[in-house]
Amino acid sequence: ARKFFVGGNWKCNGTTEEVKKIVTMLNDAEVPSEDVVEVVVSPPFVFLPVVKSLLRPDFQVAAQNCWVRKVGAFTGEISAEMLLNLGIPWVILGHSERRSLLNESNEFVGDKVAYALSLGLKVIACIGETLQQRESGSTMAVVAAQTKAIADKVTNWANVVLAYEPVWAIGTGKVATPAQAQDVHRQLRKWVHDNVGAEVADSTRIIYGGSVNGSNCKELAEQPDVDGFLVGGASLKPEFIDIIKSAT
Ligand code: 13P
Repeated sequence: ARKFFVGGNWKCNGTTEEVKKIVTMLNDAEVPSEDVVEVVVSPPFVFLPVVKSLLRPDFQVAAQNCWVRKVGAFTGEISAEMLLNLGIPWVILGHSERRSLLNESNEFVGDKVAYALSLGLKVIACIGETLQQRESGSTMAVVAAQTKAIADKVTNWANVVLAYEPVWAIGTGKVATPAQAQDVHRQLRKWVHDNVGAEVADSTRIIYGGSVNGSNCKELAEQPDVDGFLVGGASLKPEFIDIIKSAT
């Protein structure tokens, strides 16, 4: 069985004081055990060391991005090597905000995923269609192309979590219905089955992101192909605990 996964993407938010408050809230929470749910929070780079040092040991930390290849003359970038050096096990790659605002292409994201995995990082790889793409009926083609760009370069999927985040649902309060999420997750798992392999399709977590909150998480979590969540706005609030609890 696939272990439920709940990620909190804090995006570009927080001060040192605010970050410490969120960590205290998380540390004080009563949640299902590590055997039931894997919890990973992703603060901005500059707060990774403080969050890692203060956070309870059963929760893990992720970076929100990393550079596509090894260290060197790449001003302003943070390399996968540096994350490993800090003891950061996870990285989010290919988030739609980076794809759209920073022009990250499918191929670039695929290269990043492959490089991060090759060093031993675990990767939350994000995919998802825009509203226009959904309305024109190309959701699966878009999601498949994004996944193919990753699959072309990745051989070992053991450390990959796929995050399906429809762009129209991110930060909009317009969550996908449980049926909409299940439909894409099921087709995506079929795509992985047909193009990567049955074992990988069966074992890879496919998590949903986009306006997940404390009230809509339960019904989404009940869908057979929804293996968890990547949470934005609500991951900064106490309701993140309710989302973690939706694992059971
Ligand atoms: P929201 O939960 O704020 O819609 O953001 C989702 C997201 O982008 C997580 O990566």
